[in-house]
Amino acid sequence: MASGSYRNGGVKVASKVDRLPSSAGYTTPKPSTKSRLSAAAAPSRRGVSVAPSSSKAGGDSGVPGRVRVAVRLRPRNAEEMIADADFADCVELLPELKRLKLRKNNWDSETYEFDEVLTEFASQKRVYEVVAKPVVESVLEGYNGTVMAYGQTGTGKTFTLGRLGEEDTAARGIMVRAMEDILADTSPETDSVSVSYLQLYMESIQDLLIPANDNINIVEDPKTGDVSLPGATNVEIRDQKSFMELLRVGEAHRFAANTKLNTESSRSHAILIVHVKRSMKGRIDVDHSFHGENSMATNLVSSFRPPIVRKSKLVVVDLAGSERIDKSGSEGHTLEEAKSINLSLSALGKCINALAENSPHVPVRDSKLTRLLRDSFGGSARTSLVITIGPSPRHRGETSSTIMFGQRAMKVENMVKLKEEFDYKSLCRRLDIELDKLIAENERQRKDFEDEIERIRMESENRIAEAERSYIDSLENERLKFQQNYLDSAKKLEEKWKANVDKARTEHQNLCLDNARNVEAPSTSTSDDVGEVRQFQNEKHLRQSTEDEINKLKSEVSRWKQLEEAGNAEILKLHKILDSEVGQKKKLEEEIAILKSQLLQLSFHANETKPSLDRGVPGKLSTGFDSLVSQARHSQLRDSANGPKASIAKLFEQVGLHKILSLLESEDLDVRVHAVKVVANLAAEEANQEKIVEAGGLTSLLMLLRSSEDETIRRVAAGAIANLAMNETNQELIMAQGGIGLLSVTAADAEDPQTLRMVAGAIANLCGNDKLQKRLSREGGIKALLGMVRCGHPDVLAQVARGIANFAKCESRASTQGNKAGVSLLIEDGTLPWIVKNANHEASPIRRHIELALCHLAQHEINVKDMITEGALWELVRISRNCSREDIRLLAHRTLMSSPIFQSELRRLHIEF
Ligand code: ADP
Ligand code: MG
Repeated sequence: MASGSYRNGGVKVASKVDRLPSSAGYTTPKPSTKSRLSAAAAPSRRGVSVAPSSSKAGGDSGVPGRVRVAVRLRPRNAEEMIADADFADCVELLPELKRLKLRKNNWDSETYEFDEVLTEFASQKRVYEVVAKPVVESVLEGYNGTVMAYGQTGTGKTFTLGRLGEEDTAARGIMVRAMEDILADTSPETDSVSVSYLQLYMESIQDLLIPANDNINIVEDPKTGDVSLPGATNVEIRDQKSFMELLRVGEAHRFAANTKLNTESSRSHAILIVHVKRSMKGRIDVDHSFHGENSMATNLVSSFRPPIVRKSKLVVVDLAGSERIDKSGSEGHTLEEAKSINLSLSALGKCINALAENSPHVPVRDSKLTRLLRDSFGGSARTSLVITIGPSPRHRGETSSTIMFGQRAMKVENMVKLKEEFDYKSLCRRLDIELDKLIAENERQRKDFEDEIERIRMESENRIAEAERSYIDSLENERLKFQQNYLDSAKKLEEKWKANVDKARTEHQNLCLDNARNVEAPSTSTSDDVGEVRQFQNEKHLRQSTEDEINKLKSEVSRWKQLEEAGNAEILKLHKILDSEVGQKKKLEEEIAILKSQLLQLSFHANETKPSLDRGVPGKLSTGFDSLVSQARHSQLRDSANGPKASIAKLFEQVGLHKILSLLESEDLDVRVHAVKVVANLAAEEANQEKIVEAGGLTSLLMLLRSSEDETIRRVAAGAIANLAMNETNQELIMAQGGIGLLSVTAADAEDPQTLRMVAGAIANLCGNDKLQKRLSREGGIKALLGMVRCGHPDVLAQVARGIANFAKCESRASTQGNKAGVSLLIEDGTLPWIVKNANHEASPIRRHIELALCHLAQHEINVKDMITEGALWELVRISRNCSREDIRLLAHRTLMSSPIFQSELRRLHIEF
């Protein structure tokens, strides 16, 4: 009988059992062409939505598929042959009608209809094909499937499911045959088959492949409700041999485990789970409806569509003996064990009852077995149940309850669903590989492209260079050719012209002769005449063209001549400009010469005029310009209306002070000497002093004093500084620029009395400034002044004495105003001995300055002691008595009178005053 020949089952002919609803027809949804089941109610593959947005490719809606139930009768065993020899079997099978009669007694029986009725003679092969094969095929198509055996211990559950059939292949059970079909239909390249083998005992799931793994958790996907056992070993199966080995290992472990636990296999449920994962690439029909122009794009899209995988599992369950439900307690099992066996089996029964009666509540969660099998009953799996019964009337009760279990199970309707998923992982892997390939290809292409560009660039550069070379060559050739042609044709033309001219001449002569002859014998033919005329015309043309050529050359020549004339005119113009430049230069040189001579004249006059001290006005140094006015009458500057002073002023204006000052730094010593003399003369005029200082003249003069080795320059510079030092502002400037230091150095170095006179004059002027007293003393000014007396020249001494007098006067003023305390700086700097010594100097200017200085010093008591010690008292007494100048005489007298120390000293010395 074909596997797809299940027909309405579950119908008990007797009124006791309800008929199954006809809608739950026996037709099994089987899409495979391999399936021998009717395809009428098979879930359409086209109905499977393959929405890429969903990870689950399978549609949610399933196809109704009732749990199919076959009943298998075990033949009488040896014991029954004897024990029940006199009794009829408790069941009578009507396989053609798929019915089973359960005898109640000798005259009454109940008939039950099943999806398949398998007699004691049914072969293992047939049992597989009827019970399991449709489920296996369904699993291979992507549906979950369950094959389960239920029945009393010893009725052949294990015989039906688990026989290995090693010695007799015909004895192979459902597990072995199912795996054979699965392996035959799958390919290791695209599909994977793996197996877990477990035992459920006392509500504990133990791994039969690794028995130490004995408390495996059931995990339910809250979304899909899928049940899985992540803790269970899952062994990939490649061939039947390895599967057989695995079953053997599992059986051995089951036996060992049960021995250890002192149990029997009949008390535990054995569960084989075969996971099948199939790649649907090439198996799924592609919807070509929109193929056409866009087929390329479509192909692209489809190539990146994630491959679809179908994941399904076949669960084969060898249940514990059903008699345990009733007999467990009576047979001396522990209460706990009985409860556990009861728990799972009775929970299964309750669930099936609930499902059969369409009860709103199915107590799936009551036991591990029902949790594990939730997909098999009332779920999405295709489920086939084989109930095994024995023939013995002694076990009629168990047989009856098994039949009733089967009958109820027939009413359970499952919604068979395809388990399809998108295999994003493999798509991802594929895309990664694709991407790597593309990147490599892209890089290779880019490199090729770059190489190609480089090659083209090189090639074009070479070509350009080559073209340039050949262009230049051909240009040159062409030029030479044209040149040659030109010369040749010119030559030819010339020769031709000459020949023509000659020819014309001779012909003309001949013509004349001929004419003369013709007059006598006019016999020349007309054709000769015409030829000659033509030749003549040609020659005329030739001549014309030659004349044109000549004219052209002539006009060229005249153009060149014009250009030449223009060039000459230009040269003439440039010559004129040059001449005027030369004239200007000469003029300037003359001017420079005049200025130089003027400078020389001025300095000459300055030299001629001996510097002398303006004795009437102390502090003013005249370098002789005043006397120059009278003396300069014989000089060249006499022509000038205002004499040398005016000339200098004029020069000052013409040349400019800056220019004159810049000449101080000239490399020419003569120029420097003249320049410093001019500056010194200008500095003698009070009106010029400010301008000179403003223009940096003071600084330049100080520089000269410091750096020049020429005595004249130093002398004149010192004189100029002395003149500038008459002004109070300039005095401070001189000090600020370190002038006193420079003057001191010059004072120490110089031998020339005139230089020393100028330096002493300058310092003497500085001594007259109240503000500079301390600084002068500190920076060695007083000592420098005093040092200069070594030369003994009266002019120098007079300037020294003036300086001391100026200083003493300022000190005295400061003391009177209370700005000065302590002994005079003059005394501190050691001037007193020289003062005392020269107080009665024969030269009156010296004497007078010293007398004044003594009077000023004596004004203050603090100086008096030193003065007495140094002998100044006698000088003061002398001054008060003999000084020719009355004002000084009176001043000395008053001073002596007013000083108590002087007074007491005079008394001590018994001098009458
Ligand atoms: P269960 O698993 O239901 O307890 P078994 O499969 O172990 O029962 O069977 C008990 C005995 O009956 C075994 O010795 C087995 O060989 C034998 N047996 C069961 N079914 C058949 C059958 N259909 N034909 C021959 N022998 C069978
Ligand atoms: Mg068994």
